[in-house]
This record gives sequence, structure tokens and C-alpha cells, in this order.
Amino acid sequence: MANFNTHLFIASAAGIGAGLVAANVHLIAYSDMPWLIFLATLGGLLPDIDASNSRPVKLLFNVLAFMGIAAMLHKFKDSYAPYPLLLVLAGTYLFIRYGMFALFNALTVHRGVFHSVLAALFFALLMTCISYRFLHWDALHAWLNGIFIGLGFIVHLLLDELYSVDLSNSRIKSSFGTALKLFNYSNMTASALMTLCTMTLYWVAPSPAPLVKVWQGAQWNNYLTPLSFLKSYPWPSELITTAKPDKSLKCK
Ligand SMILES: [Zn+2]
Repeated sequence: MANFNTHLFIASAAGIGAGLVAANVHLIAYSDMPWLIFLATLGGLLPDIDASNSRPVKLLFNVLAFMGIAAMLHKFKDSYAPYPLLLVLAGTYLFIRYGMFALFNALTVHRGVFHSVLAALFFALLMTCISYRFLHWDALHAWLNGIFIGLGFIVHLLLDELYSVDLSNSRIKSSFGTALKLFNYSNMTASALMTLCTMTLYWVAPSPAPLVKVWQGAQWNNYLTPLSFLKSYPWPSELITTAKPDKSLKCK
């Protein structure tokens, strides 16, 4: 499998590429790019969170713990005195960062259900829901957040699969097929549970209509028709139109 740094690099490169295309067809604004590239990079690290002591999983649970604190603070800031509130917040952090982390490690195996296309869908929808419900982004940007997480995630799976092909010997390693899978075939309970969670998230997610509208309005033909893509560059047409015949060179 590819290592942490490779995943980090390739996922951010994919994020930059996708961000540039999306901005060029006016699907997103250029100012959206840095954040979306960050999300694609994050998505590229997510599939290995089931490797118990990996860096991404610790980071993820820290982020989740702080989001838990923010949610608790939002909910109870008016109903508790400062000290009990502090206690609630500390308890929330410890519960998520250590309690849920331990439970997660006990329940998952590396390259299990979290290393699948189903998980990509799950995390994309999770990000969409968190953005919309907790961070109060508008529906369009919430969906874009989810899509870029999903993009990084899929790139990670593809990269792992690529690494299982030994290019120099054109041999295929035994890990082939374990990286990019639709769901976890050997643990149907986990897969069914994740399918259920993914469907619930889709139900909780905002309507994708604003995204569909912008998607349809995007100037995809900039990319889909090679000729107009070429035309969009100033040089070929400009060279033709601005290069006027030089009269001094006229034959007499
Ligand atoms: Zn992996």
C-alpha cells in the first residue's frame, strides 16, 4: 500500500486538479478552491482510519471531540453554570476521543468496511450533513464539501490498488482487490450497518437541487468538446486574427 506521505501528496494533487476544472467551468468560485483542496486531502487520508494507531484516526477523533464540544456548548451554554458546563465539555471530549476511539478500534479491522466505495459515500454524506446541520453552510457548499471528501477518498482507494500491482515484475500482489471494493464482502454485518447509516445520512442531508442546478449550468463544454477547449486559449485564434498580412512584403 502507499504510505501516508504518498496519500497526502496524491490526494492534494487530485484536489487541485478537480478544483481547477470546477472553477474553470464555473461550478465553484476560485475562492472556494483552498478549502475544497484541503477537504480532498483529508478525504485521501480517511480510508486508513481503521488502521488502529494511524495518524489520521487520531486526528479524526480529535476533530470529532472538538465538534462534540462545540455542539454541547451550543446546546447547554444557557442552561448550565460555568463550572458544571466545563465538566460537561471535558466529559464530552474524553468520551469521544478515548471512549468512542477505543470502541471504534475494537470494532474495525484494517481494510475492512472503511476501505470501500461505500465508505466514500458514507463520509461524503457525513461531511455534507455536518456542513449543513452543524456548521450552517448553504446546501450547495455543503454538497461540494461532501463531494471533495469523497473524491480524495476514492483517489486513496485507487492508489492503494495501483500499489498492489508490481509494475516491474508485472505481478499482482495478494493484496490486489482488497483496497478498492464496493463494500466489505467478508463482513456483511458491517457492510449492512454502513449501508443503513449511509441511507440515513442521505435522508438527513439537504436537497441536492442547488448543486444539480449549478452543475447543469456549469460550462462543461469547455472541457467536453476539445475544439472549444482549444478555442478558450487566447493564442490560436488570436494569432490567426491579429496576424494581419504585412503590406510591405507584398509582391510588386
Ligand atoms: Zn489505504
